[in-house]
Amino acid sequence: MTESADLIVVGAGSGGFGAACAAARLGSKVLLVEAGEGVGGTSTWAGVNNWEPVAGATSLPAELYAALLPMRDTSLQRRRCAYHPDRPWGWYDRDPDNTDYRYSLSRYSGMPITFEPQALDQAMCTMLAQAGCELRLRTRFVDVEIDQVSRRIRAIIVEDSDGQRQRLEADRFIDATADIHLARSAGCESRLGPENPTAYGEPSATDAEGLVLNNASPCYRITPLKKCEGAVIEPWPDQVDRSIDDLRPVTSIRTYPNGDLNMNPLHLMTGAEALELGTDAHDLAFQRARGHWHLLQTRHGFDKWRLQWMSPVLGIRETHRLVGQYVLCEQDLDAGLANQDHEDIVTFADHAIDFHGSRPSRPVPNGPYGVPFRCLLPKELDNLLVACRGASFSSIGASSCRLSRTMMMLGQAAGTAAALFEADVPWGDANMERLRRQLATDGVALSLEEGWLDAMPDLDPIDPELVDAGDPRLATDPALP
Ligand SMILES: Cc1cc2nc3c(=O)[nH]c(=O)nc-3n(C[C@H](O)[C@H](O)[C@H](O)COP(=O)(O)OP(=O)(O)OC[C@H]3O[C@@H](n4cnc5c(N)ncnc54)[C@H](O)[C@@H]3O)c2cc1C
Repeated sequence: MTESADLIVVGAGSGGFGAACAAARLGSKVLLVEAGEGVGGTSTWAGVNNWEPVAGATSLPAELYAALLPMRDTSLQRRRCAYHPDRPWGWYDRDPDNTDYRYSLSRYSGMPITFEPQALDQAMCTMLAQAGCELRLRTRFVDVEIDQVSRRIRAIIVEDSDGQRQRLEADRFIDATADIHLARSAGCESRLGPENPTAYGEPSATDAEGLVLNNASPCYRITPLKKCEGAVIEPWPDQVDRSIDDLRPVTSIRTYPNGDLNMNPLHLMTGAEALELGTDAHDLAFQRARGHWHLLQTRHGFDKWRLQWMSPVLGIRETHRLVGQYVLCEQDLDAGLANQDHEDIVTFADHAIDFHGSRPSRPVPNGPYGVPFRCLLPKELDNLLVACRGASFSSIGASSCRLSRTMMMLGQAAGTAAALFEADVPWGDANMERLRRQLATDGVALSLEEGWLDAMPDLDPIDPELVDAGDPRLATDPALP
């Protein structure tokens, strides 16, 4: 059985959603295939229901926020308390007054956004359906057919949860699987782990041996005990391979719109360990998460909370990355948009270089930097784009660029390009001015004044000192929680 479409997008996380929604809105017949039970990927199913503040996240994510706001399924967040040796978590709480999305558009003077993961999944499904995109869940990409002469993917093979296989043909394909399964199966060059200094001449690259990948996190949700409920202390899990004193309780905490807490334990599993364990990583990581929760309840004062939900998917921050027509690296991050001379910038971002302690982290020094469209283009094939955290970034580039809304913006650029240009135009010949015009028409900020809180003429950014110290309107009681 063969089916066909103009565009097939594989993976319905942030990048895949952006790609499929943008292309379908511009009239392409789009088929979006997703291995999991729903859409949103890491943002929903791995319990990462948090959009870090970042420049450039306009258009589709702003629409999603507007869809969630009236149902009270989302809220801007202010810092409640910073990390402290005796209180090893950073905690953000709902802002009681502010709902203006633009306050989330700066890493240093902006605010994160938290949302109900199920509500985001629903809002994404609604937007995809309204755009006319066909979504196929529980459908996994397993193989690819390539025409080497024309440098094109002819078809992919997918398998549903009953083991039924199907052949899907299209003019264009977008790999949004995060781990770039399609691009790697198609023979595109990729890399894993940090590059040494000779690869791209990055100032912070080192010759250190060994595979270092950004940590993986098993996220979970806790809820306050009701007045009538007694303490529900998590038993120490027998299968945990570490003693309680070996577990590091460092946690990033965000507050759900209803007051529950999202716990993102940052140091329970290295990325390299998760990669090596493969499908076994999930169970071990969540056993450690139970140990982590036991530790917080018994030693850090969380005994008036109980575990409510563990996310079904382990949060993986970094695996394989494409080596495409352009590689975004540290020099781009340091230059900033004003000092880059690429003609094909399709979004910008300003998240810090951020390795969660496994390698040195630091802010980007010159404000937002642009991401060129060529980061989505493999060198080997003419009808494939890669629009996910595995796009063509160096390891340092990816440590900053990987945020979910930045991936959504790259997805939007990929989907727009797929819809705009004739199928036989190689990506390298596509008119970038036309692509940028269409993105601007669709509400994508391409100038700092439109997409960076710190440069917006009619808004006062939040004082970064206030961001660091915590909002005085929120309790910073040392007896927290
Ligand atoms: C623990 C953690 C915390 C984070 N914190 C933040 C944060 O606070 N703020 C922020 O903005 N970002 C954060 N990030 C980063 C961000 O969440 C991710 O980088 C981003 O969501 C990745 O989006 P994506 O579209 O590339 O991939 P994903 O969202 O992972 O989507 C990939 C999709 O492809 C599907 N797929 C995979 N293989 C196949 C296949 N063979 N066939 C079909 N479908 C397939 C998957 O099921 C998935 O749905 C965090 C990440 C992690 C892991």
